[in-house]
Amino acid sequence: MTPPENIFGILPTWAGVYILTILSLIISLTVFYLRVVKQLLSTQSVYRLDNPLFRLWGLFTIGFGQQKVLQRTSIKKDRAGLAHLIIFWGFLSFSLSYILFIFGNSIQPEFAKNILGSKGENIYLSYIDILSSVFLVILFWATARRWIIKPTRLKFDLTQKPESAIILGFIASLMIFEILSNSFYIASQSLNVEEFVPISMTVANILYDSKINSDTYNSLHSLFWWLHLLMILIFAIYIPFSKHMHLIASPLSIFFRDIQAKGTLSTPLNLEEAPVFGASKPSEFTWKETLDSYACAVCGRCTDACPAHITGKNLSPMQIINNIKGTQSSHEVSSGEDELIDNLIDQDSLWDCLTCGACEEECPVGVEHIDPIINMRRNLVMEKAKMPETALNVLTNLEQRGHPWKGTPYTRTDWTEGLDVKTIKENKNPEILLWVGCTPALDKNNQSSIIAMAKVLSRAKINFAILGSEESCTGDPARRIGNEYLYQTMATQNINTLNRYNIKKIVTTCPHCFNNIKNEYPHLGGNYEVLHYSEFILQLIKDKKIQIKSLPETLRISFHDPCYLGRHNNIYSAPRELIEFIPNLELKEMEPNKQQALCCGAGGGHAWIEETKGKRVNHLRTKQFLQTKSDVLGVSCPFCMQMFNEGISSLDNNDSEVKDLIEIVEENSRI
Ligand code: SF4
Ligand code: SF4
Repeated sequence: MTPPENIFGILPTWAGVYILTILSLIISLTVFYLRVVKQLLSTQSVYRLDNPLFRLWGLFTIGFGQQKVLQRTSIKKDRAGLAHLIIFWGFLSFSLSYILFIFGNSIQPEFAKNILGSKGENIYLSYIDILSSVFLVILFWATARRWIIKPTRLKFDLTQKPESAIILGFIASLMIFEILSNSFYIASQSLNVEEFVPISMTVANILYDSKINSDTYNSLHSLFWWLHLLMILIFAIYIPFSKHMHLIASPLSIFFRDIQAKGTLSTPLNLEEAPVFGASKPSEFTWKETLDSYACAVCGRCTDACPAHITGKNLSPMQIINNIKGTQSSHEVSSGEDELIDNLIDQDSLWDCLTCGACEEECPVGVEHIDPIINMRRNLVMEKAKMPETALNVLTNLEQRGHPWKGTPYTRTDWTEGLDVKTIKENKNPEILLWVGCTPALDKNNQSSIIAMAKVLSRAKINFAILGSEESCTGDPARRIGNEYLYQTMATQNINTLNRYNIKKIVTTCPHCFNNIKNEYPHLGGNYEVLHYSEFILQLIKDKKIQIKSLPETLRISFHDPCYLGRHNNIYSAPRELIEFIPNLELKEMEPNKQQALCCGAGGGHAWIEETKGKRVNHLRTKQFLQTKSDVLGVSCPFCMQMFNEGISSLDNNDSEVKDLIEIVEENSRI
């Protein structure tokens, strides 16, 4: 790290260092402005400055603490996270060493010593010396892993692009030049240095044995020192041309992340005045969506976790995110006006998304995949009237009947026959409003769960009411399919009804209604306390308002986490605690579960939209259940119920049973 005295007798070292650095910064910042900033300035606005302290905390934990990278890391299963942590912190350590030992010491030879103290300087130099060789080992392993071992998430075209090799080559040469420059310096001083730099000292010993004259050692020290600096500066210029833009963009993407509940979509207001619905051209996306495109580290984690991708569809969330910035190569910059849909992003990929959130859960840099996908669906549906026939049928049903189901023989209140269930008109001051939802009300196979819910509430003497014929679909399916206009019309109508009856607290059995009313109705002025039944019933049991009796014999149950309850709203323990309260009901977890649970296949409108190709997602999840050999597949969502009824009848000859947890509570509860 000791700088040479001058540039081969031509210029003082400090002058060379600063001239070259300023030149490289000018080139780097110009490219950065032309390729990135200009594009960001041409995009749509979105507000992301609320709660700055919480955002800053995320930057420390997710960014500097590498929380997301480490969440799946283990020595046995995923060592890449550990390697990334070392590289990330190593990168920061090297950056600090360049400031101290190159930019500081080249002006004032004692600069680093004055800041760190004599002992501190020696410790830091030893650390950097050892770190250089650790980096070389990791880079060797990373190269073998990416191009020889090839785990699934590194097999995608994007992850195999040559720029990854260029970056690895850059970093490896930096490390080699660092060690060689130090070693030749030590050899030039006849091995007589104060610092403990074990790696460079070992190499210097070998070099010294070759008995080259001291002037040659000096020249080679200068050569490798300058090559080392040139590598740093070339790397700085290369960053805005490459995927390593993520070094700059990912901390910003983490800071400006969406801090609402994960399942919350953004709400474009004043739709009538919008110049275009949704997005298809780079300039039609928000600046955060475009920033994410630069923040992506191309690690493949999102695509590797995507149920649509796993079951053989074209959808790759990583590819979609990378395509949002448009066509970009080292010589071509996106115009911002290229149509992305049908050119870089195919329609099937957009329709195959289940909005399950597995991609966002895995992403280590705060990229949001679902919002831009829905934004593109909005463009297809509202701007171009292009959608699968099954999606069109749902939207038509919603418009004409206020619910998504075609040809149901039931009305919204038929299920209440013989039960003590009052409508809001009959019971104007209920403690809670039971939001029934279209599927429990109108689908024969789902009515048992809402009937069980009503019975349990009656037994617990809860004063509740339903909207009855005044309830319509929340609008959630229209929203996820991309008809934002229809969604806002339906949601506003529901909010008006709820407000007219002065409703404050809502309980629902459907996680989709739960997520929509709780997290998205506030955007349109509907603010209520909303609970999923698993939370509400659990509290009733804890308060001893419902007593649970033991099952006659042991029953093994595996619980499937609905995406809109678990990943999107972080409710994992309430359903499991419910199970624990029922004696002789034994929980056996499915793999994967909780944050990593696979979607049932119904999200994002897929209760109606057919999958384009590959295996069925619900069959894959059903197979994961069958591996547990449990008796019951426990659900807490009407759509999961539908998907697994089909899965079990196709794959298990109905040997096992699908049950909503509320049905089990009802069967085993007494006053
Ligand atoms: S939300 Fe789910 S289905 Fe959609 S891209 Fe992400 S992981 Fe894939
Ligand atoms: S979007 Fe996130 S998870 Fe997906 S490849 Fe990029 S950095 Fe990795």
